[in-house]
Amino acid sequence: ICYTRCNIVDIVKETLAMTAPTAEEKQIEISTKFPRQRQVLLGDCQQLKQVFLNLIQNSLEAMTPGGQLSIQAHPGELDGKEAISIKIVDTGGGIPLEQLNNIFTPFFTTKQSGTGLGLPIANRIITNHGGKIHVTNHPGVGAEFRIVLPKHW
Ligand code: ADP
Ligand code: MG
Repeated sequence: ICYTRCNIVDIVKETLAMTAPTAEEKQIEISTKFPRQRQVLLGDCQQLKQVFLNLIQNSLEAMTPGGQLSIQAHPGELDGKEAISIKIVDTGGGIPLEQLNNIFTPFFTTKQSGTGLGLPIANRIITNHGGKIHVTNHPGVGAEFRIVLPKHW
C-alpha cells in the first residue's frame, strides 16, 4: 500500500461527485454533514476512495426514486486511538436478515449483474488500514454502514 496523508472529507466529496449523475438520474436526495476541522489520516487515498465508492454505489442501487442518502463524518475513537468515523445511511429497504451474514462474502450478490465484490473489497481495505466496518440494518427502511478509521497506526 502507498501511505500518504488523506483528507477523508475531500475523498468522500470526490466520491459523491463521481456518483452525482447516477444520484440525480435516480432522484436521490443527498445530505452531508462534515466536521469543520480537517480530518486527515495516513493511508492509501485511492483505496479509501474505492471504499466509499463501493458503499455509495450500493446505497444508490438499493434505492428507488425519492430515496435519501445521508453521509456524516465525525471525529471518533478506535481502541483508544484517535479515529475518524464515517456513516452512510440510505433508505433502500435494508438487507434481509437471512442475507446479512453473507454480504461480506466474496461473490455474494442479490443483483442480476452484481459482482459481489464491492463489500469484500471495502472490508479488506478498511481492515488493512486498521479500521472497522459496522452494519446496522433497519429492516424495511434502509441500511447504515459505519466505517471507523484510526488516524495513525
Ligand atoms: P454487489 O453490489 O455487486 O451485489 P457487494 O459486495 O457490493 O456486491 O454487495 C453485496 C450484497 O449486499 C448486494 O448484492 C446487496 O444484496 C447487499 N447490499 C449491500 N449494500 C446494501 C445496501 N446499502 N442496501 C441493501 N442491500 C445492500
Ligand atoms: Mg456493490
